[in-house]
Amino acid sequence: MQARPPPGLTTAEAARRFLQHGPNALAEPPRPSRLHRLGRNLVHLFALLLWTGAGLALLAGLPELAVAIVVVVLVNAAFATGQELRAERATEALRRMLPQQARVRRDGVEQEVAAAELVPGDVLVLRPGDRVSADGELLDETELRVDESTLTGESWPVAPHGVVHAGTWVTGGVGEAVVTATGMNTEFGRIAALTQAGDLERSPLERELDRLTRFVALLVLGLGTAFFLTAGALGMGLRDRFVFAIGVMVANVPEGLLPTVTLSLALATQRMARRNALVRRLSAVETLGETTVICTDKTGTLTKNELTAQEIWTPALSVEVEGTGYSPHGRFRRDGEVVHPSELDEVLRAGLLCNDTKLEPGAEGWRVVGDPTEAALITLAAKGGLHHPTEAGLAPRLAELPFDSTRMRMTTVHATPAGRVAYVKGAPEAVLARTRGDEASRARALREARELEGSGLRVLALARRAVDAATPLTVDALEQDLELLGLVGMLDPPRPEIAGAIERCRRAGIRIVMVTGDSGPTARAVARRIGLVDDACSVVEGSELDGLADDELVRLVLHGNVVFARTAPEGKLRLARALRAHGEVVAMTGDGVNDAPALREADIGVAMGIAGTDVARETADLVLVDDDFSSIVAAVEEGRAVYANIRRFAAYHFCSNVGELVPFLVWGLSGGAVPLPLVVMQVLAIDLGTDMLPAIALGTERAEPGTMERPPRRRTERLLNRATVARVYGYVGPIEGLAAMTSFLWAYWLAGWRPGDVLADAGPLYVQATGMTCLGVVAAQVGAGLAMRTDRRSVFSVGLLSNRFLLAGIAVEAALAVALVEVPVLQELFHTRPLGWEHWALLAVWPPVVLAAEEARKAVVRRRSHDVGVEGAQPRSPTAPPLRRRYGARIAEPPDARRPRGGDALDVPSKGGSP
Ligand code: ADP
Ligand code: MG
Repeated sequence: MQARPPPGLTTAEAARRFLQHGPNALAEPPRPSRLHRLGRNLVHLFALLLWTGAGLALLAGLPELAVAIVVVVLVNAAFATGQELRAERATEALRRMLPQQARVRRDGVEQEVAAAELVPGDVLVLRPGDRVSADGELLDETELRVDESTLTGESWPVAPHGVVHAGTWVTGGVGEAVVTATGMNTEFGRIAALTQAGDLERSPLERELDRLTRFVALLVLGLGTAFFLTAGALGMGLRDRFVFAIGVMVANVPEGLLPTVTLSLALATQRMARRNALVRRLSAVETLGETTVICTDKTGTLTKNELTAQEIWTPALSVEVEGTGYSPHGRFRRDGEVVHPSELDEVLRAGLLCNDTKLEPGAEGWRVVGDPTEAALITLAAKGGLHHPTEAGLAPRLAELPFDSTRMRMTTVHATPAGRVAYVKGAPEAVLARTRGDEASRARALREARELEGSGLRVLALARRAVDAATPLTVDALEQDLELLGLVGMLDPPRPEIAGAIERCRRAGIRIVMVTGDSGPTARAVARRIGLVDDACSVVEGSELDGLADDELVRLVLHGNVVFARTAPEGKLRLARALRAHGEVVAMTGDGVNDAPALREADIGVAMGIAGTDVARETADLVLVDDDFSSIVAAVEEGRAVYANIRRFAAYHFCSNVGELVPFLVWGLSGGAVPLPLVVMQVLAIDLGTDMLPAIALGTERAEPGTMERPPRRRTERLLNRATVARVYGYVGPIEGLAAMTSFLWAYWLAGWRPGDVLADAGPLYVQATGMTCLGVVAAQVGAGLAMRTDRRSVFSVGLLSNRFLLAGIAVEAALAVALVEVPVLQELFHTRPLGWEHWALLAVWPPVVLAAEEARKAVVRRRSHDVGVEGAQPRSPTAPPLRRRYGARIAEPPDARRPRGGDALDVPSKGGSP
């Protein structure tokens, strides 16, 4: 490998070629047009049911009804299409927040450009973790390894033979390549063109909704047919039987449910983005809400990733370093006395030269371009008067063996006036294992390192070795027989808000495990400082993990109070796999090249937006803009909230369906003794008029207080779980039915009817009474809308009037209701007549009745769960007994007692470490 880099293009030439070749991007698959989407929504299962209803109405000789239903189908499809487009725009906007970068050499300097701006002829600079953004021919490489799984399906990193392909990843080594093809001309582009028609994976929630849709469809058809037949047996006329069947069908179709779900999810991703968590897959939103274990890195996630060297140890002396942050000011002291930096020259130089990071002065202090660990070494060197341009000029770099987290070392080779020198830096044990000299001095250095680590410092060892031109540039040849220069201990302060975030997870029944590449003593010291573990914690280091059986591993994690240190990427993968096999829903953070398999294996792969490599970011489901652990917790909360909202929304919808069904039942089962209390047009007015806005408003509800004080939702739990079904079909729905029927009879009562008299089934009184039934349901829905805002909390505790959107929705609902009976045109259309104040007085009773009934139910639920101790709203100290006991119960369950993951598991072949 030669030192002089090829020059690459000039910016002007690149711009010219860009015009000629166009952007380096894959052609977007053609999106379905609006018309196409509209068409799809017109033939959706629910729409088909309504079409059937319209057909039946025609058959029954009710053309106005048929037309009305058709209008409903059209309006609904238009609405659904609008929601879909909005959802798509929201996801699209998110995607644009994660532009891809590529490293190129232009105008003779290495720089980052948008990957879309690459042109043929550009010189790509490839480092571990980089995504290869175009096809290229290699000019130069050192131990380059590429993961070509996107092209070949073979996930073992391979040594490329002269060429690299777009869409692959650099997993090790370095190299430079000249771009030969971009965009759709690349190999990847060709494959993409072939497979573009591919379907998108459906998320669990979408599948759940599919199930729900089919269930409702069957229910509707079954009920419709059953009622048609029963009514026939009861001697009802054919036309009435049709009306009956149509009413049952229309009443039970939850129009507007599906598009609103998609929109709720999309809006949730926007809320998450505002809280610094970017979701890359819509379905990740719901999975986030189910998270039971978060496996998190230490550096940068729990800590600030702002390292400052505090101690230097060399075989000759040990000194303390003054100063904070990356500011290059501070002196060296030994026992309080200032030490002259020249004594530390070689340690500082090694740290400065064996380094790929840049520190740039910025408006708000120093900006790190690269790795903060390395940045600390630059600052340290500057405190000793060593600066990059000068030192690099004296000892230009000839080659590099980049850092990888399995080897835990990195080496650079330099041409110095005194001959070639290799500088090595890395984890103490990884470097000391390769040093020359006697065992005793090695042991002494290692002891020293442990001591520094025990106080929470991250320690790097620095070493060097003279080499000659004949020494091959390989790990084995260069990284051996080293001369130890010294150790540097660096402090990475915990993030200030981290203790709070950890506490929130604890209350939410989510376990947090620190899984770090750092050493055991450092990891433990930091974990203790942030309150993640206590004194009794166990530390599982590196290879110890391999010695543990899967169930032991799971038990350790579920028990808590454990830290995984010196964990290799394979270890992370195993951990994720074992936990998932046990039924846990695992979120796993990662930033490195080799973390991709673990991120893919986890239910939620979380990548760092700042410190992460391209690979990690592209594999992840969630990207943390600020690398902050708290952002994961925020995303979990939003994930839980959106699921709860979708459930509220669906429950609200189904409540009115029950309220509408009851009058039909009464009519059918009374064999006509009670005239039809609700006409089909009125059902439509409720489902597609008055219900619509409040339902959507419920989808925007903020997380219910206490959302993060409950254990995670079980993966096996249905959207309409038993509690919700019972609440809707067994409680609120029947109350609404009662409200509807009472309102109906109230109209007759006011007109002098008394029990035992015949109910008129035609004429103004009858028309007015049906209007009352309709408004009875609407009024009850006002109460239901308010009640559905919470599951178990009192609505008053979250503020009855705190959802403005819902209040507006209810206002519109009320206005529509008044219009329905008072506006002459609508009277005609919807079979209503004006009401008197006594009518309105009864209707005004229903909202508080439903609300009070729900408040009573919630109070009982609260009392009951309090007795059992499920709610867990009391704050707990990290190791307080109640938590232990609860987890204890789960640990005791044999692993196979819990449902294994369903067939949606991604089949990820395990990936080896570095070459
Ligand atoms: P983590 O960042 O979670 O500590 P890594 O796998 O990135 O895990 O690092 C593992 C170890 O390798 C670190 O504890 C440190 O000792 C060493 N190390 C980290 N970064 C570098 C680097 N740029 N050069 C040399 N050694 C490093
Ligand atoms: Mg790291």
